[in-house]
Amino acid sequence: MAAARPLVPLMMLLLLAAPAALASAAGKPGAGGGGGGGDFAAAALGGLAALRADADALAPWLVVTRRALHRTPELMFREHNTSAYIRAALDAMGIPYAWPVARTGVLARLEVGPGTDDGARGGQTAAAAAKHANASATGEASPPPLVVILRSDIDALPIDEPAGGVADAGGYRSANEGVMHACGHDAHAAMLLGAARLLRDRRASFPRPGAVLFAFQPAEEGGAGADEMLRHEGGRLFDGAGAAFGVHVWPTVPRGALLTRTGTLMAGALSWDVAVRGRGGHAAMPHLNVDPVVPAAALVGALQALVSREMSPLGSAVLSVTTLRAGTVNNVTPDEARLGGTLRALTHADMERLRRRVGEVAAAVAAAHGCTAEVDWHEGDHPYYPPTVNDGRAAALVAGAAEALMDGWVARPFAPEGEAGAGAEGTAAETATASGSGKGKGKGGDEEDGVGAPGSPSSPSPAMAMPATLSPYTPSSKHTFETEPVMPAEDFSFFARALPSAFSFLGAADPSGPGGGGGGLLHNPLFSLDERVLPVGAAIHAAVAAEYFARGGLEVTGAAAAAADCSSAAAGGGACPAAAA
Ligand SMILES: [Zn+2]
Repeated sequence: MAAARPLVPLMMLLLLAAPAALASAAGKPGAGGGGGGGDFAAAALGGLAALRADADALAPWLVVTRRALHRTPELMFREHNTSAYIRAALDAMGIPYAWPVARTGVLARLEVGPGTDDGARGGQTAAAAAKHANASATGEASPPPLVVILRSDIDALPIDEPAGGVADAGGYRSANEGVMHACGHDAHAAMLLGAARLLRDRRASFPRPGAVLFAFQPAEEGGAGADEMLRHEGGRLFDGAGAAFGVHVWPTVPRGALLTRTGTLMAGALSWDVAVRGRGGHAAMPHLNVDPVVPAAALVGALQALVSREMSPLGSAVLSVTTLRAGTVNNVTPDEARLGGTLRALTHADMERLRRRVGEVAAAVAAAHGCTAEVDWHEGDHPYYPPTVNDGRAAALVAGAAEALMDGWVARPFAPEGEAGAGAEGTAAETATASGSGKGKGKGGDEEDGVGAPGSPSSPSPAMAMPATLSPYTPSSKHTFETEPVMPAEDFSFFARALPSAFSFLGAADPSGPGGGGGGLLHNPLFSLDERVLPVGAAIHAAVAAEYFARGGLEVTGAAAAAADCSSAAAGGGACPAAAA
């Protein structure tokens, strides 16, 4: 919508002025992406070293952005100020957006590909533009445009942020009483805005035309904002999208470790309440009443059998009773007793079956005691979240991009026993010299920015044990791990249900937080994160989008895409570009 003049940091202008030099400075020419990274083709957009340097340079801005959002958290579908802040940032970048999408959401759209810069910096894309023009002149069929979605949630939780915490000490504790960013969605929004900045200044370097969509999504915490966003105007805004990617900070894993997996990553979830109804009366004459308390108590036990006796031992499900209410005084049998809780499982089929069985068991147990039962599945205020199921190609793309990006940038988060000091290039020395430094060795001028910004991502976290349920994503991975599924739910699942997608967890353990390294858990008033993860997350988003275009989408591998690009260029009379650079 808005199209204000962009703010382009001088550094980025300089970077754009000499992409070839920067690509060679990256030290990772061609399709190789760095040790352990596996298949990473997107050295295209100026190189990984430039991406790391640009992200490092953005660190102070990312911290300011995250803290501003942290200070003014808003509950689901009420993210009005958050949305305005995001739109103002996009205005400053000159990136257009649609708003409101799903009431408070913002969907920014960055057109990318040859010729999409504003003309003022046309020289640096001359090669790409010439190739594009050459293809047009020779009648070569243009490849279809690619569209990829990068998604962040933006809402907060009804939790009161206590005094004396990390944010309080930093002067950015929540100013909205009873509301707190206790799930890191402030960091997610900052990282996605950072990615928009990184990609905006690389847009003309994308190898083919298309768009990157930045979805700033409301109401993840129960409102299914993702579903509403995808349904907005019949889904028109997402036309042509071939994949979606999202990241969630993970406070119990060392900063910079990326966790993902193929297949089901997170559970489906349903919120439920059961009203058991009888007929109240004098508690001293129970034979004249129909007591709903006894069947309500029986139902608590009966429901447990659904998981223990009806689920395969190899499946996973949770059925927790979390509320139980009946009566007001001790000598009156009430008319009604209520219980409620959460239902989770890793497959949609199990969710459907357990949902049906909760209704059947509730009705039968109530009937056995002469009562009735009515189940409320909260369709209106807390809709069903399906399990989050990652596409294998999308998960591999994220893991490859993240591994290549972080190798040599983020201190290796995990060294198997006996390998200490034999980590990735640069990290052994960092590990040896890092203890107690607290400052990054990279650029960024963090000390001068006055906001207490963290050091560069290179400064390592204290040694932390990786959860035992993780294994390296590939045998040589140092920064990316395959995680077991987890039972929390995510409405990113609606994106993953609509198109091939991958959701990942990004280690963000706060060494200054509670416990000296674990940070508070998600949805906890003591939640905190290591802000040095912000540039890492922004760069991962950017690298994923770049990689998606370099591969030509999810259908073609990097090597095959490069070969196809080369052969079509040859057919059109053009020279084959050097290895996707
Ligand atoms: Zn969350």
